Amino acid sequence: MPGKVVILSGSGLSAESGLPTFRDAAGLWRQYSWVELASPEGWRKHPELVLAFYNERRAKAWAAQPNAAHLALAALEKNFDVVVVTQNVDNLHERAGSTRVLHLHGELAYARGTGPKRRRQRIDAAPIEMGQTCPEGTQLRPDIVWFGEETRFLGEASEHVASADKVLVVGTSLSVYPAAGLVEYARADAEKVLNVLEMEHVPADYRFMPGPATRIVPPLVDGWLRSHPP
Ligand code: NAD
Repeated sequence: MPGKVVILSGSGLSAESGLPTFRDAAGLWRQYSWVELASPEGWRKHPELVLAFYNERRAKAWAAQPNAAHLALAALEKNFDVVVVTQNVDNLHERAGSTRVLHLHGELAYARGTGPKRRRQRIDAAPIEMGQTCPEGTQLRPDIVWFGEETRFLGEASEHVASADKVLVVGTSLSVYPAAGLVEYARADAEKVLNVLEMEHVPADYRFMPGPATRIVPPLVDGWLRSHPP
């Protein structure tokens, strides 16, 4: 039986691929609050602004490349049963080669209608325009979980964390709930590691490894792969 590793990742993991983190992304549009850019209220008030924000993020995400940390995490699959649980809406984990990725907050690569039928459609890098509709005839919106909307895969993700032998939290400030609460499902005997630039309150039992993910994650993964041959 291979050991099981669960990765809990956030926007800091993609920072070294050139994608702004949560706070920095808001900074780019600092005349607006996140509520205006990423909430059902914001969408109702000015959908064109919301589409423009996400069209820009989608274009930037497609121009970006997975970094050494994304690639190392994908390589873990050689010797481990790996599940990536991410708050990220980019697809850099998949492009690095990770095959099991749960996107808690949706994906830039998909759009969906705004009516009762929520079937999503793949758009990849294409922008969503005002007036562009789904097959049911309602305006397309990004398939992103906005503030106040329901986080996806939470039950499944908590079960994965609870059954993991190793949990690596990387690039998340653990400030957006309920995703942040997943760290607490880890088993007492699991190896638990946290890699961010800085963190005031490190969750109990997590080994804190501060620094850029591209410097911290590859050697950590190498050690795990060596100590756990296929
Ligand atoms: P956050 O901005 O709150 O926290 C980022 C964390 O990453 C910080 O703790 C910081 O110390 C750390 N960090 C920054 N650069 C790093 C690096 N090079 N290596 C390691 N750690 C680094 O982000 P969050 O916790 O992911 O916030 C969650 C919200 O942000 C989610 O709703 C998510 O959907 C959204 N978001 C996603 C993306 C993306 O998909 N790339 C980008 C921006 C925001």
